[in-house]
Amino acid sequence: MLRADLVDPELSGNKYFKLLPNLLGAREQGHHTLLSFGGPWSNHLHALAAAGRRFGFRTIGMVRGEQGGALTACLQDAANNGMRLQFTSRDDYRRKGDTDWQLQLQTQFGPHFLIPEGGSNLAGVLGCRALLPVVHDFSHLMVACGTGTTLSVIGIQVLKGEGYLQQEVAGLLSRHGLQASCRWQVLDDWHGGGYARVTPELLDFMYRFEADTGIPLEPVYSAKLMQALVGLVACDFFPAGARVLVVHGGGLQGRRSLA
Ligand SMILES: *Cc1c(COP(=O)(O)O)cnc(C)c1O
Repeated sequence: MLRADLVDPELSGNKYFKLLPNLLGAREQGHHTLLSFGGPWSNHLHALAAAGRRFGFRTIGMVRGEQGGALTACLQDAANNGMRLQFTSRDDYRRKGDTDWQLQLQTQFGPHFLIPEGGSNLAGVLGCRALLPVVHDFSHLMVACGTGTTLSVIGIQVLKGEGYLQQEVAGLLSRHGLQASCRWQVLDDWHGGGYARVTPELLDFMYRFEADTGIPLEPVYSAKLMQALVGLVACDFFPAGARVLVVHGGGLQGRRSLA
């Protein structure tokens, strides 16, 4: 297991690799403010707020959905790190990729460097190449996929939608003129009911895995990824002699959503 959860205490997991090149890009373009998008338990916004504070950027978080009561622990951390939180109706939030709305945001918040949800731009993809040197000794690499930015070989889709991430990853590669450096596939049978859906079976599995290995997981990505790994081994998915590297993508702050 590649423990990307241990990379940094605040900029956890793959978010570290996706965000740093974006921050460098923002600085090069003379920006002092970063704006991005995420849900109330977004590991991405959580990491962005911490990065902003550490490296001297103002941060704005466009949060999916209306504010209902108290902030989640995730958003409270983000606010404590100075992030301005802007709750956004689900209808508006769906327009996060529209140029029209993005121009409107420039007027509303002033000049800023916009990072797409999950850090899924070219800088984010290129940042994940930092993970490559460690994968050479392995025949299979497994990651959990949200936007598909971190994907290298076998992505375990954590959201429902057959074929959806296959298209997203192909789109990311072709949009940026990148060649995949290896074969890759997305398995879309392991989302366990949909994005952030948590079943008692998943929790059982997670707590047992943690007790057996001493490695902490969270329910949205890493627990589903490890459940997929164990399931794939059980059905002889991997050929004899395979050396499988599984990437722990971090995001353990999200474990607090179980409380
Ligand atoms: C964001 C995240 C992912 C998904 O990464 P993508 O590059 O969006 O596919 C996987 N695991 C964890 C723990 C995450 O926080």
